[in-house]
Amino acid sequence: MIFKQLFEPVSSTYTYLLGCQETGQALLIDPVLPTWERDLAVLNTLGLKLAFTLETHIHADHITSARKLKAIAGSRIAGPALDQLPCTDVGIAEGTPFKLGSVELTPLHTPGHTDNHFAYLHAGRLYSGDALLIDACGRTDFQNGDATALYHSVRGKLFALDDDTLVYPAHDYEQRRISTIGQEKARNPRLGGDRTLEDFVALMGDLKLAYPTFIDYAVPGNRSCGACPPDVPEHLQQYCAQIAGSRQG
Ligand code: FE
Repeated sequence: MIFKQLFEPVSSTYTYLLGCQETGQALLIDPVLPTWERDLAVLNTLGLKLAFTLETHIHADHITSARKLKAIAGSRIAGPALDQLPCTDVGIAEGTPFKLGSVELTPLHTPGHTDNHFAYLHAGRLYSGDALLIDACGRTDFQNGDATALYHSVRGKLFALDDDTLVYPAHDYEQRRISTIGQEKARNPRLGGDRTLEDFVALMGDLKLAYPTFIDYAVPGNRSCGACPPDVPEHLQQYCAQIAGSRQG
């Protein structure tokens, strides 16, 4: 397998490139609109053709480049079937592996950050989306989020994986790139150790996080698989603009 962890700085999102050496096909997990050209350039350099984009969930902090990449590169759009988005070409469901050549992902329904959130497991690597972050987890106060559901998703489903499973999160805001299930079980300050359900629900309820800056544009944009809404105010245009080749550098 060919693998790259790509970073998008506006929303601190990690996009994951998984390529099949035999077929020359690749997929991108959680690609982000401002970096679509960079991602295609990386694929080109590796001699890979983009076959699919794959979402972990409907994001509230960035807009996916799925629609753009479909238009430019001819890739197909995959995401959780539970979201029932008309723009999705392939709906992902638990129990049905997602195959691309020799790459076969196991989808894991992991609700709590959003109700239809999925993580993906492949070859000892977990693409954990926003369910499990390094020393953290996604917020549970929007998009049908539910702290009880997240507790069971992480501790019941993800922490049941082998301790050596590599954890690749959808975000990190401190330049960290990777963790393991064993490490998160031992030291995740929200969900690790002997954290009880009651403690976790109380902790998430007390976070008092600010209203997400871009959510009112990102969610409708992502429900269209990556259309930047026409009314995005100027100070948020960086979420839609291309970084590569633009004056932002
Ligand atoms: Fe999210």
